[in-house]
Amino acid sequence: MTGVGVTLEPAPPLPVSAGTHVVDVPETAPAPARAGDPVGAFVDLHAHSTASDGSEPPEMLVARAVAVGLVAVALTDHDTVAGVAAARAAGEAAGVPVIAGVELSAFDTGGEVHILGLHLTSPERLAEPLSVFQETRVSRAAEIVRALNDLGIPVTMEAVLAESAGGAIGRPHVARALIAGGWVRDHREAFDRYLGADRPAYVQKHRLTAADAMDLIHGAGGVAIFAHPGRDGTLARIQALAAVGLDGVEVLHPSHGAEDVARLSAIAEHLELLCSGGSDWHGAPDGARALGGMRVPAEWSARQDDRAAALYRFAA
Ligand code: AMP
Ligand code: MN
Ligand code: MN
Ligand code: MN
Repeated sequence: MTGVGVTLEPAPPLPVSAGTHVVDVPETAPAPARAGDPVGAFVDLHAHSTASDGSEPPEMLVARAVAVGLVAVALTDHDTVAGVAAARAAGEAAGVPVIAGVELSAFDTGGEVHILGLHLTSPERLAEPLSVFQETRVSRAAEIVRALNDLGIPVTMEAVLAESAGGAIGRPHVARALIAGGWVRDHREAFDRYLGADRPAYVQKHRLTAADAMDLIHGAGGVAIFAHPGRDGTLARIQALAAVGLDGVEVLHPSHGAEDVARLSAIAEHLELLCSGGSDWHGAPDGARALGGMRVPAEWSARQDDRAAALYRFAA
């Protein structure tokens, strides 16, 4: 397949300072566009709801998509498709197609990697395999609470469960319980002091290989996309993932600086991988993480759907 990448003609410089650590691309940053793209037809291919660690229910995702004028939106909750049916029903009522998706936490030789599944035609096929991850998320949250108690913070599992309200439980819920208890000021401090990968209350999740994650996604009729690769998105790592089923790369993401966007675009083009992008919305009302903030061309989504139809839906 050719031409799945973005054009590499001198891209308009993104208004971000290069060389800084993780730079938020402002909402006004021009997305790399292709000739022939319908002007102003944008999608958002990465968003969460209360089915995982988002703060808004699936119906609100659709309401926001309508409000910001998106032509389609994907729901990609962590390790669950439990919100998809409600989002789809709301999307049908509002006339905005909802793309069934998921964000799977997995591991490759480079460490933890998040794989987005997009354009799933049989999301229900994931429900059972993913239920195992839901269970391990609960036991892991209990381990995190124990570690925090050992550090002298009397946060309880009940408080954490109350924050998750039945959704796929994760570190952001622990962070909210820590904030509510007054032990940290904000989300940032919770991760910097306790919950981040090298911090004292960090506990790993289930060990799903990236290859297995991609097999699950393909089995549900969708394409597998390397989520927010950032600086880890090297040619070698993406090539290794492509060898075991990767279909595309998330080029546009709020954590990406101009250099990331340029490198990932070039690698996608070189390896004939799909491009993707989204705000990674968790309910933020504004900023680059607001829904639609990455201005992802609708054309990218159409190409993804075409590839899924050609490769993964033959057994329907
Ligand atoms: P979990 O799935 O429980 O490992 O939690 C992962 C989620 O926590 C991510 O999707 C982000 O929403 C959030 N997160 C992970 N690392 C950080 C960090 N260093 N700072 C702030 N939030 C983070
Ligand atoms: Mn999250
Ligand atoms: Mn992620
Ligand atoms: Mn995400």
